[in-house]
Order: sequence, then C-alpha cells, then structure tokens
Amino acid sequence: MKRTNYHIHTLWCDGSASCAEMAKAAYDAGMDSIGFSSHFTMTYPDDCGIEAELIPDYLRETARIRSVYEPLGMEVLTSFEADYYMDTGAFSPEFAAVRPKLDYTIGSIHTMGFRDDGEMGIIDAFPEKFVESIRQIYGTEQAFAEAYYGAVGDMAEREKPDIVGHLDLLKKNNFILGRSAVDTGTKAYRDAAFEALRRIRDAGCILEINTGGIARYTNPGLLYPDPELTAEAVRLGIPLMINGDSHSTEGIDTYYTQAEELLRSLGVRTLMRRGQNGWEEAPL
Ligand SMILES: [Zn+2]
Ligand SMILES: [Zn+2]
Repeated sequence: MKRTNYHIHTLWCDGSASCAEMAKAAYDAGMDSIGFSSHFTMTYPDDCGIEAELIPDYLRETARIRSVYEPLGMEVLTSFEADYYMDTGAFSPEFAAVRPKLDYTIGSIHTMGFRDDGEMGIIDAFPEKFVESIRQIYGTEQAFAEAYYGAVGDMAEREKPDIVGHLDLLKKNNFILGRSAVDTGTKAYRDAAFEALRRIRDAGCILEINTGGIARYTNPGLLYPDPELTAEAVRLGIPLMINGDSHSTEGIDTYYTQAEELLRSLGVRTLMRRGQNGWEEAPL
C-alpha cells in the first residue's frame, strides 16, 4: 500500500508549517491518505493546543485542503490529538462537543497531573522539571510508570480513541537528559506496559508506530513504542499503523522505511489505513 500519516501537526497548534504545506509534503512523498491532528485545547495554560475559538476555522481549513487533494487522489482527514489527563482520568469535557465533527481521534497522554506548586507536570518537555514532577506527584519513577500505563489502559477503555498515540512517551527525557529519568529496563516497567497493551487490544484501538521523536531529535531510540513493546503488540494482534507525528514538512515520513522494516521483521503483514468503510487492513 501507499504510505499514510494520520498524525500531523500544523501552525494551528505547535507545528511549524501550514495545513497546505504539510499536505503538499505528504503528497510529494507519495502518500495517498493523511489526517491533520492538532493538539486539542489544553485545560491548563500552554502554547501547544489549538485556541478554542479557532476550532471552527481549523475544521473549515482542513475541509478546504481535502477538497484540493481529493481530485488528486489523496484523502485528507480531520482529527485532533486529544489529551487524556492523568489527574481527571478523562479527555477535557469540551472535546465531547467537537468529537462528532472529526473523522477520528488520537488519544495521548502528555501531562502528569498538578505539582505541589500548582504547575501541570509535563512528560515530554522541560526534562529537569519532569524529574522533579515525578518526585512531587508520584514519589518514585516506578510509581509514575505504573500510573502512566494504568492511565493509558484507562484511556483506551473509557475514551476509546481510534488511535493510541506514542505509547511510551515517558522514555523521551531519558534521551534528552542522557541518563535514566524513568528506568524502562525493569520487569515492573514491562509488566505495566504489557498490561496497557492488553487493554488497548481489548478496547479495539489502533496502536501507532510513531516516528516523530526521531524526526525531532534524530535518535532512533525515540521510536514509540520501542521494538520490544512493538513485538508484544504484534503478538497480541493489535492493529498497527505508522505515523509521523509530524511538526514540520521534513518530518512527514521520517524513518518510515526503517519502521516498515522493523514491522516486517516482526511478522507484520498489514497496517491499518482509512478505506471506504472506515479503518481497514492493507498490505504492508
Ligand atoms: Zn503527542
Ligand atoms: Zn502529536
């Protein structure tokens, strides 16, 4: 099948290019089905999520891009990457009103709950703060990892996103800091992650193989999920897709070839893509 990318950020949130520029990059890369997935409006002050009042404009603009590329043979879908909040155990309440207008939803966890100082703990930014947030909110890195993967499983069951985003994002700062902030090598860590995978499978979600960390930091260790977790997902029969989590035109298909090779080596023969009747399997 031709390549697809259902995880694309733009200037509507924290991406560096417009919808038109990202669509052109995908089309030029030979893709025939893509989806825009701006960060949904956050429930705390931030500069990543779309501003709530701009949501109607975003929906109009992605529909316009769809009408441009449909005649050219590339499907363009509209989505949001919705945050699942570990402190509330849900997507933001405002998302429910928008969700019916979308083609699909990516569910992701980027936050850890509130710190003692009232700040939201962030998983994928400010590495030194991340370490302090673990200490303040969860006490130990193992307790945090278990809470995180428990929340991933809860998200799959409660919110049923079409796609679960960057499964093991919590490892990111290990690579940024150059030392272990969350030890991913322990049996307890693997057990928690494997349990999340079982719950993702039972909830019927698609798991993305996310190359966005590699696009941004050029470190192949930042493939989400790591090969061992991906192998377990394959063993469990979880439907998979490769997504770029692209924040720039250059990142539209970063590391796709290597991700495809990895999946083939694990025995994967099909990936999920959008078809006539929703999500369907297509040959890898
Ligand atoms: Zn994300
Ligand atoms: Zn993303």
